[in-house]
Amino acid sequence: MALYRTKSLGRGTFGFFEHSMHERLQTRHQIIMGLREAIANSKFELHYQPIVNVKTRRIVGCEALIRWSHPVRGLIPASEFIPIAEECGLIGQIGDWVLKTACAEASLWPDDIWVAVNISPAQFRGQDLVDKVTNACRGLPLSRLILEITETLLMKDRDVASDTLERLRKMGVRFAIDDFGTGFSSLSYLQSFPFDKIKIDRSFVSAVANVKRSATLRRSIIQLGYNLGMTSVGEGVETEQQLDRLRAEGCVEAQGFLFSRAVPAAKLRTLFSKPL
Ligand code: C2E
Ligand code: MG
Ligand code: MG
Ligand code: MG
Repeated sequence: MALYRTKSLGRGTFGFFEHSMHERLQTRHQIIMGLREAIANSKFELHYQPIVNVKTRRIVGCEALIRWSHPVRGLIPASEFIPIAEECGLIGQIGDWVLKTACAEASLWPDDIWVAVNISPAQFRGQDLVDKVTNACRGLPLSRLILEITETLLMKDRDVASDTLERLRKMGVRFAIDDFGTGFSSLSYLQSFPFDKIKIDRSFVSAVANVKRSATLRRSIIQLGYNLGMTSVGEGVETEQQLDRLRAEGCVEAQGFLFSRAVPAAKLRTLFSKPL
């Protein structure tokens, strides 16, 4: 989201940037106003992207990905507004809705299919995540919920995070590390907390440059996951070749446009019955 981030300006570039900076701030302001309105009027939708076993290509779980149903722009993907919602403090309310909706919809799926929900750092900071998860999961066994968190969270709010993580884990909730290997992070959190899944970031899966080094990285991540009892999930798989590669490297699960994009809950039903 570099587009919306403010940067200090160099001297010589004054006029040009002054203008675009103003525009950027205006766009950002419009998005924030729009998000407030969307929260008040429930203008969000959850779509679900299947995650399959690489051998059977059958769905083992689905990741909930939020979309903003915008009056003019149509459906806006999460990548375009979640970072702003995080920065301006709206992610808490949005996150509550996501958790409730995802758990309610997943309770209608076959028993052996789990749902993965992305959780932002701020949702961990508000002490009551445990209660929120408990309430959201009234109709869904907690073992069918996976919370996806990024390494950033584990670095920034270590103490709050580890306490909340531990309490949720004792209740049966499982955890995935999202976008593994892309955050500024250390591996020390892996020492203190057992994750169930390790998601290999799309940048390692799709790598076209430095092919050999990417392969080595993927293998190492998969091996690390295996040794620590984590299931590896390849993200952003778009081609059969990428899938073959991951399978050969020992990756267990995969997700990406090759199998399916994120689809509305109603459309998901037709995907459960056959390999993708
Ligand atoms: P993520 O959790 O890593 O989700 C995967 C993103 O990659 C999604 O983008 C998905 O549509 C996209 N993707 C999946 N397969 C492919 C593929 O084969 N190729 C390509 N090019 N892209 C693929 P999306 O939906 O825009 O979400 C972006 C990020 O926003 C997510 O990254 C996640 O960090 C965050 N996010 C999404 N929904 C939520 C939510 O409900 N709450 C929170 N806190 N964050 C969310
Ligand atoms: Mg995710
Ligand atoms: Mg990811
Ligand atoms: Mg990602």
